[in-house]
Amino acid sequence: MRALRYLLFPTLLSASVAVAWAGFDAGFDPAVWTFVVTVGNLAVVALLEHALPRKPGVSLLTDRQSPNDLLHAGLLSLVGVPAGQALATIAVVTLAGNTGAAGPKLWWPNHWPFIGQLVLLTLIADFFDYWKHRAYHRFDALWWFHSIHHSMNSMHALKAGRLHFAEGVIRYLVVTTPLVVLGAPTELLLWYVLLQNFLGNLNHTNLDLRFPRFAHYLLPTLDNHYLHHARERRLQDSNFAGTPLFDLLFGTFHDPTQHRVESVGIEDDPVPNGFFAQLLLPFRKLMPKTRSKAPETGAMT
Ligand SMILES: [Zn+2]
Ligand SMILES: [Zn+2]
Repeated sequence: MRALRYLLFPTLLSASVAVAWAGFDAGFDPAVWTFVVTVGNLAVVALLEHALPRKPGVSLLTDRQSPNDLLHAGLLSLVGVPAGQALATIAVVTLAGNTGAAGPKLWWPNHWPFIGQLVLLTLIADFFDYWKHRAYHRFDALWWFHSIHHSMNSMHALKAGRLHFAEGVIRYLVVTTPLVVLGAPTELLLWYVLLQNFLGNLNHTNLDLRFPRFAHYLLPTLDNHYLHHARERRLQDSNFAGTPLFDLLFGTFHDPTQHRVESVGIEDDPVPNGFFAQLLLPFRKLMPKTRSKAPETGAMT
């Protein structure tokens, strides 16, 4: 049983990749197939959580915030991501106009093997994602949007999609736009999105995934992200990136085997329970009278 827990992460990830690959190979519509495989991965993870829970008693079925989690995920997909894509397109067209239309395509190493290109794209995306995420924790104006994601008393499969829709817009502008400007092929971007979706599901699950210690220094493990969701601010302001590389480089990595997470969430959680109140929270908090501090206490480097 212990070995099974260690095998779960590589098995689920490789099975999801194999199913995605088979669908693309069969000529299914890439956007539709990406959605189907992501939801399928989420359903499998949610079912397995009940058979092998990390914390017994935690369930998306009894979490009173689960309907809100689903509504946030829906709004993110239907409004946040398309709005981000539209704004990113405008930004790319503007940048292409300034650099010459053929320029950006020349910057991407299309002659590299696919896996090499995927690693390169992941590293570039992670760099921008790291600083975006760190800024969320540093600046009040951004924290109140991100606080919706951190406002949770338990972690399970639905929490990956608990993001204010504005986070979808910001992500496209900050992380995706540079990749498009560099000329990353659409197929590669699609694979990156799929992997991010799989890892997002696996990084918030209550499924009892186990990893050897060295994996926390190489991979985006559940334990690394669990630590990021700790109620304790010192731990919450660490492990920002998907892969640990940039946290290690910029001094914000905490080894999850060296810290005990007592509970997840936000100290003195200011996030209301209602869905619409949660949507409006960042705008209300940014009013001059209700403005308060973001959690990161250390200085930006
Ligand atoms: Zn965060
Ligand atoms: Zn998270």
